[in-house]
Amino acid sequence: MTHDEIRGALSAYFDGQLGQEQAVEVTAHIAACPECRAILDDIKALSAGVREELGVKAPAGLAQRALARSRAAEKPPRAPLALAIALTVIVVAFLAGVAAKKYMPTMFASVQGMINGAASTLGVSGGNK
Ligand SMILES: [Zn+2]
Repeated sequence: MTHDEIRGALSAYFDGQLGQEQAVEVTAHIAACPECRAILDDIKALSAGVREELGVKAPAGLAQRALARSRAAEKPPRAPLALAIALTVIVVAFLAGVAAKKYMPTMFASVQGMINGAASTLGVSGGNK
């Protein structure tokens, strides 16, 4: 495999989706290629970030806080909006978890920005600690 082919296969490599022969080839290439090693590190960091930011627990907690807040809202008309935002956040977070692995950092960053934006609209933490 060429450097470019291996770069393209790093995500599958990380997911354990390569055949044994390919995986061995990628492992050997990574040992000798700092660029591919850096990309694999990015994939690892991104994957950990997805689990941390968009894992099952985070959206559930976010939804609960959003719901609690919408119930406590002083102006009733705001509640449906808050609920809609909360639901959108959950759906986007779920889709982002699936899509982030495929489409990688740019999309992940923009989706995370959307989630943080929606979270701050609701006045709840986006889960960043
Ligand atoms: Zn390389």
